[in-house]
Amino acid sequence: MSMLDFEKLSQVIPISASARKVLEKPEMEMSLRLDLSFGDKLFCTDVFVVYYNTVRGPAKGGIRFSPNLTLEQIRLIAEMTTYKTALVGIPFGGGMSGIRIDPREHARFELNEILKEYVHILEKELDPRVYIPAPDYGTGSKDMMVIYGETHIPESVTGKPVSIGGIHGREEATGRGVAVSTRLGVKTVMNKTSDNIRIAIQGFGNVGSNAALFLSESGAKIVAVSDTSGGIFNSDGFDIKELIEHKKEKKYLQEYNAELVSGEELFELDVDVLVLAALEDAITEDNAENIKAKIIVEGANYPITEAADKILVESGKVVMPDILTNSGGVIASYIEWHQGKSGSLSEKKETYSTIDKLMSKTFNNVLKFANLSKLNYRDAALALAVQRVVRAMEDRGLI
Ligand code: NAD
Repeated sequence: MSMLDFEKLSQVIPISASARKVLEKPEMEMSLRLDLSFGDKLFCTDVFVVYYNTVRGPAKGGIRFSPNLTLEQIRLIAEMTTYKTALVGIPFGGGMSGIRIDPREHARFELNEILKEYVHILEKELDPRVYIPAPDYGTGSKDMMVIYGETHIPESVTGKPVSIGGIHGREEATGRGVAVSTRLGVKTVMNKTSDNIRIAIQGFGNVGSNAALFLSESGAKIVAVSDTSGGIFNSDGFDIKELIEHKKEKKYLQEYNAELVSGEELFELDVDVLVLAALEDAITEDNAENIKAKIIVEGANYPITEAADKILVESGKVVMPDILTNSGGVIASYIEWHQGKSGSLSEKKETYSTIDKLMSKTFNNVLKFANLSKLNYRDAALALAVQRVVRAMEDRGLI
């Protein structure tokens, strides 16, 4: 089922029956088995790939490692990426892939073998004109390096280490984008700068830790953070660099010397902003009512269920939606893809400046459209993005 509510959308933008037909379903989805032998041990798992819509360019989208992975999750994120790239105006379509594994349970050499096999079974797909993966939940630059090591095409994968064609600033790009949109949201909704704003963050991986770093650098107090072990709290705000060092030692947050809170308690803290940077469905109708933060920022994809979103909106909370806030990574991916094709080099400050400019421009476009159409940020962002995808279909003579 599509994430779009076509009836609701058609009250805001023109959406023909033909456009609806194209957008209702993904263009392509694959479910494959990956078999490998590790010595005398047979290892089998599932690989999923979805291209939701490629009318605006090749399918761009992360590769996820998760033990609970489903085709449906991959489909939903591929669909979201279609609208995310359209909203920020990058010429990519929306795709996503994943391997059902828990990376913590595999040695590095095993992960490398699994990724090499992923490339082999998807040889025709991993072409920069078709599908370009990037890091997502459970994966990082080392994994992208292995993919590149097999394809030998620099622009076939983004999020690579800088030493082999990655770009300065890609690692922290999504977190930077989340920080930029959080600051804009705080300014617009609360008429405050981020000085002394109190923030709680669920998830302290790539997105959460980098968002925390940029936000704390701009004066915000990160008073609580969590990972799979649970959360920690410090009313004076954490030293984020120190926490990042702690996590680099592969330690859980609850092993850090601080007051412990549970994952659920973190949602209920009296903070200005709650950033969700872990996984889908973190906020449901069971816990939405307990949230005290005025602004909830979706760093992860789909961290709030539809029912929970309704509760939050009705109680006067402002939700900054995923397609608006977590596109810093895809912007940096575009810069890296372009660099891979052209051979040009870009500096970190250029990556940051492109993210900052595009995120701010997108935020202002959404804000303007939201005010004009009397919509919340989520509905306004989605309507603008769908409009662009429909326009591309018209321009290509598809509809
Ligand atoms: P990651 O694997 O680097 O980190 C995920 C973090 O979430 C880890 O700290 C993990 O411990 C924590 N976590 C998992 N379940 C949790 C729970 N129940 N409570 C608290 N913490 C929990 O992943 P990431 O790359 O930071 O991605 C996080 C989210 O952001 C995902 O939804 C991903 O799809 C989305 N996203 C990532 C990128 C990117 O560039 N990495 C881009 C766009 C969107």
